[in-house]
Amino acid sequence: MTREEIVMICTSDLAGQVRGKGFPACDHAERMKKGIGWTPTNSMITALGAIAPSPWGPFGDLFLRPAPETEVRVELDETGAATHFVMGDICHLDGRDWEVCPRSFLRRAIQALAERHGLGVKAAFEHEFAYSGVEEKTNASYALDAFRRQGAFAETYLGALREAGVKLDTFMPEYGPRQYEITVGPDEGVKAADTAVAVRELARAAAHHLGHSVSFSPILRPSAVGNGVHIHFSLFDLKTGEPVNHDPSHPNGLSKTAACFLGGMLAKMDTYLAFTASSPISCLRLTPNRWSAAYNNLGYRDREAGIRICPVFDASKIREQFHFEYRAADASASPYLALGAILAAGLWGLDTGVDGAKVFDGAPQNFDLGHLDAHGIRRLPLTLSEALDRLEADSDLDAIIGSTLKQAFITHKRFEIELTAELSDEERCERYRDAY
Ligand code: GLU
Ligand code: MG
Repeated sequence: MTREEIVMICTSDLAGQVRGKGFPACDHAERMKKGIGWTPTNSMITALGAIAPSPWGPFGDLFLRPAPETEVRVELDETGAATHFVMGDICHLDGRDWEVCPRSFLRRAIQALAERHGLGVKAAFEHEFAYSGVEEKTNASYALDAFRRQGAFAETYLGALREAGVKLDTFMPEYGPRQYEITVGPDEGVKAADTAVAVRELARAAAHHLGHSVSFSPILRPSAVGNGVHIHFSLFDLKTGEPVNHDPSHPNGLSKTAACFLGGMLAKMDTYLAFTASSPISCLRLTPNRWSAAYNNLGYRDREAGIRICPVFDASKIREQFHFEYRAADASASPYLALGAILAAGLWGLDTGVDGAKVFDGAPQNFDLGHLDAHGIRRLPLTLSEALDRLEADSDLDAIIGSTLKQAFITHKRFEIELTAELSDEERCERYRDAY
């Protein structure tokens, strides 16, 4: 018998799950042209398995159109199956983008930014996760010992990432229980989110290969620090390729364009939060004193700000390297939806010419409401349910998001909240540890 290698064409869906369909690798050329069938109701499969009430039921046909530049093929050993997948867009049968496809949503936001403002975006997703193959110990944070005890995982994982063409940056033991962090170099546009999918999936593949697993769940237990996804991003002029983020003559180095873009992101942060922190446990992580993000504040090198201005170590490279980090994201969100949402809000800021973002000094929780109000600072939603209500109530980003995607997402997520309504926070964390 000769084994048949299988290639999966996948989407990272409303639940932030990577799902798709496979074909024999020998049909590669043909399938890369024609794709593979898909079903609208698949978008309503929650991270916990049950299907939310679907507007489509058993009706309708779509297809997944593979994007060749996203193909990943890594052989972790000679006897196991190759990890071979390619990300795709969900399309109508006539080839038009399907309104609910997260990857097309991100592309819509990127196209609008290009057409209306001549701007492109570079982004990199920084991920934290827990690895099961290491014993939990206190005092493991950043410890060389915690690096040693994870054995061959990191080398296997980074080898797989390199083979997949991902730009390696850092790997480290993080603060939380069994927690590690991976950072990678920036990519342009949609590719940044494609890379985020590879970063998550290859961590799973490397851990699986060693008989273990990883969890990117936002928080593993209510008392722990969370697993953040920090989205690093910067803008550049599409004509010249030059970065447009830094201006030494402005406070904190923000250019006018960047200040306006960030102003939009901050003003709308509570309304699109559900797209970046999408699970019923996400808000447990987004609380003060956890080094995540609890307010819509802009911080200068502040690791609890909603958006942080990142440090540049080499002052001579400040123009190229000056960039920002959105911290209120986690891996329960599809990277396409998360990046698409923050770009849609930044775009709204540029379109409407909102007040430029200003750095907020200090930790918001230490100030009274009057002071916060005067600075436009608001606590982010305390629950997913509240985040969905705010998303529903605000229509300013609807032109980019689209009403079909927005309604499907809200219905999906409200159903998921119901599924876990009877559970305690501890039990909810347990469920999500396995889901992500
Ligand atoms: N674990 C923190 C979070 O949930 C981030 C810690 C850090 O890397 O600054 O976002
Ligand atoms: Mg970290």
